[in-house]
Amino acid sequence: MRAMAKAPVLTPRADDFPRWYQDLITKAELADNGPVRGTMVIRPYGYGLWERMQRDMDARIKETGTQNAYFPLLIPQSYLTREAEHVEGFAPELAVVTHGGGKELEEPVVVRPTSETIVNEYFAKWVQSYRDLPLLINQWANVVRWELRPRLFLRTSEFLWQEGHTAHATYEEARDFAARIHRHVYGDFMREFLAMDFVLGRKTASERFAGAINTLTLEGMMGDGKALQLGTSHELGQNFAKAFGTRYLSKDGRQELVWQTSWGATTRMIGALVMMHGDDNGLRLPPRLATVQVVVLAVKDDEAVLAKVREVGERLTAAGVRVQVDDRTETPFGRRAVDWELKGVPVRVEIGPRDLENGTAMLVRRIPGGKQPVALDALATLLPTVLEEGQELLLTQARARRESRTSDVTSADEAIEAAAAGGWARLPWSALGPAGEAELAERGVTVRCLVAQDGAVPDADDAPGNVAVVARAY
Ligand code: AMP
Repeated sequence: MRAMAKAPVLTPRADDFPRWYQDLITKAELADNGPVRGTMVIRPYGYGLWERMQRDMDARIKETGTQNAYFPLLIPQSYLTREAEHVEGFAPELAVVTHGGGKELEEPVVVRPTSETIVNEYFAKWVQSYRDLPLLINQWANVVRWELRPRLFLRTSEFLWQEGHTAHATYEEARDFAARIHRHVYGDFMREFLAMDFVLGRKTASERFAGAINTLTLEGMMGDGKALQLGTSHELGQNFAKAFGTRYLSKDGRQELVWQTSWGATTRMIGALVMMHGDDNGLRLPPRLATVQVVVLAVKDDEAVLAKVREVGERLTAAGVRVQVDDRTETPFGRRAVDWELKGVPVRVEIGPRDLENGTAMLVRRIPGGKQPVALDALATLLPTVLEEGQELLLTQARARRESRTSDVTSADEAIEAAAAGGWARLPWSALGPAGEAELAERGVTVRCLVAQDGAVPDADDAPGNVAVVARAY
């Protein structure tokens, strides 16, 4: 039986998008809920995606001259309180350890929600003179923020991320570095590797990171038209430097405070990937990311077929494709095909006895969908192109969706209408301002970011011509 099962495997997106998301995460074996509310068990298939993301992003981070290091999970509570805005912002989300080794601790310690404070404690020791700058550090770690409305991958109480922390001699250098991470580390990574489409913008003052002077964001449109913040890069100014005494001796012999940045991208990107590229049949993985790019399936338990799928698997592996051979013929073929579809594997090569007679295989593309018979001998040369086409198409589709669902409006009411209809609105920031922004927020719609008219990232909230990108958000 070659026909696919007809009953929907997932709740259709149009019926209930959040339910579809939850179904997909479970059925594609990406993650499970942990026993403590808000925590998550990342299953091997999901973790494999994270590992591939880490590897690509890590290389891009290192290209900027940044080095990896590791700071402790536990931070003295007193550190958090040193930067007033920082503690105010994070206090409601902190997990605090009061007991250790069976005794009450003299000073409680917090489980890091982010590491600016402890990093600065050490930067203050490591930075002496201008020769020690810039200091460019990244860590791959877990952090804990006690989230009240958790969602697998999108908002968990413990999540995995990288957090970059840098110190520079001047305001301009720090500003340019934060912008470089925003556009060329996060932006290029998400577009080139994850085939994601997004808007690069500046957060308004009310949405800034606690303790930052500027927050740069990447905002993606999900399949239901809502927005999701995909990553952020902050200019911290001298706020943490002041709080921790992070100073350097300048060329002309003066003690100066450093200028800093911090930036983070998390396991939320996996949730974003699902919601941006997924369809009613499951995940659709960008081929560059996919742990398995091509699965070669034996349609039937037949010796010649099994020998052929293994041989094709080896040939494709030798051609540089990440292949998995599926010869589990004790499971019905239809079930296995549905399962690979759910898992978003970009291409299936299906081989049965009739294909063997013809010297062909059935090539099934997850992106854009559809199947065609292909000569067995042609597979190895054809597949790299098919995979690259899939990669490009995902990006094109995501971009087309955002463009078609974004409308230019002139008033807050129209913006709310557009958001309610499952889209984004763009309106002049001068028509809204912080007061209008607060009113929108009360109606469940937020200013995702500010962009300049030509799409560039503005360098001030009230720069003339700024456009507010407004949407409902996750
Ligand atoms: P922040 O340090 O607050 O700027 O956060 C860095 C990035 O982490 C944000 O851009 C979000 O995309 C992501 N993020 C924030 N909170 C969570 C969470 N609870 N779970 C997963 N990702 C998160």
